[in-house]
Amino acid sequence: MLDTHTVENQSTPFENVNLFACDAALQEALLRAAPAASADLLELGARLGRAETLALGALANDNAPRLINFDRYGRRIDEVQFHPAWHELMALMTGAGIHAPASGAGAHSARAAAFMLFAQVENGAQCPLTMTYASVATLQLAPSIAAQWVPKILARSYDRRSLPIGQKHGALLGMGMTEKQGGSDVRSNTTLAQRVTPNPFALPAGEAGDDGDLYRIVGHKWFFSAPQCDAHLILAQTDACSSAGLSCFFVPRFLPDGSRNAIRVMRLKDKLGNRSNASAEVEFDGAFGWRIGAVGRGVAAILEMGNRTRLDCVLGSAGTMRAALTHALHHARGRRAFGRPLAAHALMQNVLADLALESEAATAFSMRLAQCYDRPDDALEAALARLLTPAGKYWICKRGPAFGAEAMEVLGGNGYVEEAPLARLYREFPVNSIWEGSGNIMCLDLLRALQRTPHALSALRAELEAARACGSAADRTVFTAYAAQLLDDLIETGGGTDGEAEYGARRLAGRIVLAVQGALLLRHAPDHVASAFIASRLAAGVGGAFGHLPSGIDCDAILRRALAVQALNL
Ligand SMILES: Cc1cc2nc3c(=O)[nH]c(=O)nc-3n(C[C@H](O)[C@H](O)[C@H](O)COP(=O)(O)OP(=O)(O)OC[C@H]3O[C@@H](n4cnc5c(N)ncnc54)[C@H](O)[C@@H]3O)c2cc1C
Repeated sequence: MLDTHTVENQSTPFENVNLFACDAALQEALLRAAPAASADLLELGARLGRAETLALGALANDNAPRLINFDRYGRRIDEVQFHPAWHELMALMTGAGIHAPASGAGAHSARAAAFMLFAQVENGAQCPLTMTYASVATLQLAPSIAAQWVPKILARSYDRRSLPIGQKHGALLGMGMTEKQGGSDVRSNTTLAQRVTPNPFALPAGEAGDDGDLYRIVGHKWFFSAPQCDAHLILAQTDACSSAGLSCFFVPRFLPDGSRNAIRVMRLKDKLGNRSNASAEVEFDGAFGWRIGAVGRGVAAILEMGNRTRLDCVLGSAGTMRAALTHALHHARGRRAFGRPLAAHALMQNVLADLALESEAATAFSMRLAQCYDRPDDALEAALARLLTPAGKYWICKRGPAFGAEAMEVLGGNGYVEEAPLARLYREFPVNSIWEGSGNIMCLDLLRALQRTPHALSALRAELEAARACGSAADRTVFTAYAAQLLDDLIETGGGTDGEAEYGARRLAGRIVLAVQGALLLRHAPDHVASAFIASRLAAGVGGAFGHLPSGIDCDAILRRALAVQALNL
């Protein structure tokens, strides 16, 4: 029998590569921020780039979690059942310390680099790990709870068992704020917490006072990701007319007497992406919760978490961009059309180089932002973190969906098919822009930061001025004019919080991020990268699509730098 055809001119999967070794921008950023971590990252990059590790991401998403409300005898259990690939991913990530705030010089930067590498494998499993990482800052407000829980959180071991915390060697935390009637406007929360006296549990209630007061909670959460976590931090009212304001509560899955807390998981969301991760709707049917922080100070307490989770949204989007870029570029080098590799066509070079610039700028920005978190005692660094976290969460996450669509198109029809990872990556992008404060909320937060953070403007000015003497004369001229106009506008308006300031807040956030990205590339990237970024983003203004680079750009050099693959020795 004759063959119908031979399979020719199809590209190969992008796998069995060292994800760190092929990423010059990330390596250089890590050398600046946490040089001692390079060897670990190199090892991690090799592990994550293996075909079998990359396959876990697809498996965990193709086999979404299932809610099991009752055991076979009809007892309420509210357990979530995951595919083994999910557990492998969780074990891999907790083993690398993604869930635990590390200490020591450069620890946040090293974690950020690892987080961006993991984002190239799977995004859903990053959700509970991010929440756990972020929760520690809030838990510290309740020393007696922290004393029992933080050591288990910091342990680099994944314990998937549903058991009371005393019997576990690792713990994960989630958070619940969003209710049906309002997510951004959490003040509309109606979930009610009523004080319980006397406290029936010996632990972890502790003494009376701000740390450890026990309440019973009745109400719901409309989004409650990772309900399998060992505990959640939630917001609730302490009086029915909301006059005291929201308070923060620590709600464990199991109570100190070993029984299950009354958190009813009603259903799991059927989501566009992030399908490996269980995002639940829950009801609190008189669940026990320990108040963290003062009555009415819940938003302030949980915001301690918010900045960290927003940082991870930025890191996650930058990492996912990098994944989409590498798959696209690898494909374009391996597939020919009209007699040449796709990557050799001038117009495709424009698209790919534009994507590479966006990805490198996102990486540089993300690593710089993480570095600010390594220096909390430096007033300028802390102010910069306060400013750039919402601005970056808005801009970098907002660029993601357009980036993902363009990268998918580089693969043509193959990109749109589920077997290639591009479809999954594309579905992953929007969530970072929505959760943890949607785009507009981030821009309003940026205005608040500009108004209320001492040194915010000085910190931004110092960051931009550091690039004043870098790059070619022509690039410096464009950059200096862009930065000066931005700073002048900020001085004039001071950010502002009126309707006009709000109206322009997205544009302002974008300009701030572009200016910082321009400064970072001028200081640290090769001239051909910095020049291309400045010509296409600062001089010309960001267009709606990719592939709009002006003439005179060295696309070849940009693409060589973007992906220099060394196959793994398997
Ligand atoms: C997959 C997934 C998992 C999630 N997991 C969790 C979780 O674990 N815990 C949790 O608490 N929440 C979770 N969320 C909820 C998420 O944080 C909220 O959806 C988000 O904060 C937006 O709130 P909302 O859906 O109520 O939208 P709304 O608050 O109704 O906002 C709708 C739109 O209006 C805009 N908007 C709101 N106010 C203003 C304003 N003043 N000016 C201009 N624009 C405005 C917003 O930016 C948004 O674009 C999750 C969401 C998703 C998608």
